[in-house]
Amino acid sequence: MEKKNTYKIAVLPGDGIGPEIVAEAVKVLGAVAEQTGVTIEFEYGRIGGIAIDTDGTPLPEETLEIAKRADAVLLGAVGGPKWDQNPGHLRPETGLLGIRKALGLFANIRPATMHPSLVDASSLKPEVVSGVDLIVVRELTGGIYFGEKKRYAAADGGEVAEDLLIYHEAEIERILRVAFELARKRSRRLVSVDKANVLESSRLWRKVAERVAADYPDVELSHMLVDSCAMQLVRAPKQFDVIVTENMFGDILSDQAAMLTGSIGMLASASLAEGSFGLYEPVHGSAPDIAGKGIANPLATILSAAMLLRHSLGLDEAAAAVEQAVWAVLEAGHRTGDIAQDKSKALGTVEIGQLVLNELAKRTVKK
Ligand code: NAD
Repeated sequence: MEKKNTYKIAVLPGDGIGPEIVAEAVKVLGAVAEQTGVTIEFEYGRIGGIAIDTDGTPLPEETLEIAKRADAVLLGAVGGPKWDQNPGHLRPETGLLGIRKALGLFANIRPATMHPSLVDASSLKPEVVSGVDLIVVRELTGGIYFGEKKRYAAADGGEVAEDLLIYHEAEIERILRVAFELARKRSRRLVSVDKANVLESSRLWRKVAERVAADYPDVELSHMLVDSCAMQLVRAPKQFDVIVTENMFGDILSDQAAMLTGSIGMLASASLAEGSFGLYEPVHGSAPDIAGKGIANPLATILSAAMLLRHSLGLDEAAAAVEQAVWAVLEAGHRTGDIAQDKSKALGTVEIGQLVLNELAKRTVKK
């Protein structure tokens, strides 16, 4: 990846706790810039409910322009009860789907890492989840979510609905290549998940996976049916390293895998386009129930910023330093309310953010 001295990051805080958690991640990126000697310029834009209120649309043209001239996008979360009854085109999530489509973000990367000090947060037994460290790679712009949709009356007068599940082999190939590349940097094991016993699109998926695998002889590819994968994820999750799958299966399995770790405030994600451009956001939503209280966990957003440093800016060492700083804060026993055993000792958003900055300052980060 081309190393530059100046990077532009589009910052889209969104709604609810979005602005609070994004502020902490921006401080961390600012500290990384200072330590590495690179310049990071932040340009802010509106998305979701705030954009509906201000601009009359969940994804203003201006926001897209800001995103398009950036090297990467850092997003908080969108949504809230205020906009829940709006029609489809005026819903906050429409802004999210719109930006993914407009920026060509076809690969969703969702790590699920069980940190030893958080093993008790999982609803599964410690021996099942301790050591879990997997990534779900989900195709994000094709499949049944984007295929043609129809509603009509059948001959007997009953209502019928159709959702078309459609994939072009080029769409399958590019997501598989992302997954193979990722597997190559990890344990070189890739599980491709489909429903090839029933779906034609899955049979094409499997055929393409086999073809692409020939270019990655160092990576061991195996296939698993989606129902079997759902079972294996809760039975023996440690068998997985990188999982790749289509849009709807990935939507479900990535949430299931994430919950192995038990703490929604810790989960980061990246959505990547061709090249190094990507959008980075925590997995959780805008948490309207705790917005404005200063108690939201900023770590998922800070870990998303670490993914941004690695995938879009090529600052691998800085990314690792941020991740280590987060783990060091947890190991020292500091927690926000969502992951604290003893809620009375829980720290606030800014306090946890500051502790991460303190840990980061102890580490030497080179460009
Ligand atoms: P949510 O993830 O916002 O909240 C679920 C629960 O987890 C809540 O109790 C919340 O307080 C808690 N929580 C979430 N993030 C937290 C954090 N960082 N720190 C501490 N606690 C945290 O999901 P929801 O309540 O189903 O949805 C709320 C709104 O967010 C809805 O409008 C929904 O549409 C939207 N949403 C947005 C996204 C996104 O922007 N990507 C994703 C999911 C939901």
